[in-house]
Amino acid sequence: MPSDAPITQDVVTIPRKLPDGHVNIVGLTRAKLREVLIENGTPEKQAKMRVNQIWQWVYQWGVRDFAEMTNLSKTYRADLAEKFVIEIPEMVSRQISADGTRKYLVRIAGGHEVEVVYIPETDRGTLCVSSQVGCTLTCSFCHTGTQKLVRNLTAGEIVGQIMMARDDLDEWPQPGVGTGDAGPRLLSNVVLMGMGEPLYNFDNVRDAMKIAMDNEGISLSRRRITLSTSGVVPEIAKTAEEIGCMLAISFHATTDEVRDKLVPINKRWNIEALLAALKAYPKLSNSERITFEYVMLKDVNDSDDDARRLVRLIEGIPAKINLIPFNEWPGSPYQRSDWSQIKSFADVIYKAGYASPIRKPRGEDIMAACGQLKSATERARKSRKQIEAEAGLG
Ligand code: SAH
Ligand code: SF4
Repeated sequence: MPSDAPITQDVVTIPRKLPDGHVNIVGLTRAKLREVLIENGTPEKQAKMRVNQIWQWVYQWGVRDFAEMTNLSKTYRADLAEKFVIEIPEMVSRQISADGTRKYLVRIAGGHEVEVVYIPETDRGTLCVSSQVGCTLTCSFCHTGTQKLVRNLTAGEIVGQIMMARDDLDEWPQPGVGTGDAGPRLLSNVVLMGMGEPLYNFDNVRDAMKIAMDNEGISLSRRRITLSTSGVVPEIAKTAEEIGCMLAISFHATTDEVRDKLVPINKRWNIEALLAALKAYPKLSNSERITFEYVMLKDVNDSDDDARRLVRLIEGIPAKINLIPFNEWPGSPYQRSDWSQIKSFADVIYKAGYASPIRKPRGEDIMAACGQLKSATERARKSRKQIEAEAGLG
């Protein structure tokens, strides 16, 4: 792609086609749910209450069958079942790593597949959710980036990944018995760090996260949701205003020259433009710190000079720097930095006053680590040569 060519989103969401016109409830905002209920015969006066009741069954208690919604009349339940369905993506397979990480292969409409990863820790559990099948961007170190974008996920398919994981973890509270929040939740955090660029699927990601945050449902705090972007600058302020979640940024380089190669969207919005948007984020979203993700690539971006430049660049932004040792994948054109160099880089950052955790690779034995996700169905892999050429390494 020539460097001045705009990087655009050219694929729209193809809504799930359901047999004989059934509408899927999952993924509709409250306003939209109200609308479709009224369209299908629910009296306007009752609509708000019906939305509340159905919402609670679906998102608080994980019910998938209208027949179980016992606070609705039998005839109303039958009416609903005629017109609506409660559907989430289908789990095709589940792999469990030696360290407890779970990788799910999930099938969505059209036979496409995405990967979803659950990472258990002692005090929390994080679900890494996908927002697109493939990705339009072509970051040269990312496995997903070698897969063409097939389509955006719908809001239902995004929040449906959370619901599927709660099914698998058996974490829905019993109807009428509290909220299930007695101890730490198994699924307590969500990161939009799976396949795809979430800010190129903004509306669906926003609706899905709004549903996940809703207090009468899955009820995840906005502080426990982190959206990771490669730097779609115009959407960053919108993320603050319309979602309000935590932000992580795939920074990965300290000069435009290197970042152009690693994260090609940098050719459209360079480091300076990105930093300006990030400076405004905490105030707009009322959130504390931005996470700077930095993948450690041997002899590419990992020198002590890089560390010092990084510290200078982000001065004034409340930040946490997450160092990610590069996860190799078959044919990847880079190597993981040496451990001693990762430590040395972390040290510079730490001395400058930033938290600089080194992300421990999880689930490597099942290719579940960052940037390794890629669905088997779309495995039209580029050759190593092609990848190297595009990364400017050839
Ligand atoms: N598209 C979004 C979110 C998905 S990627 C984004 O780019 O931010 C989630 C994180 O994993 C990003 O920081 C990405 O840069 C990083 N990543 C991608 N490939 C990787 C690899 N092979 N090793 C380590 N981290 C990788
Ligand atoms: Fe897409 Fe993110 Fe991978 Fe870049 S790092 S190709 S934006 S998924």
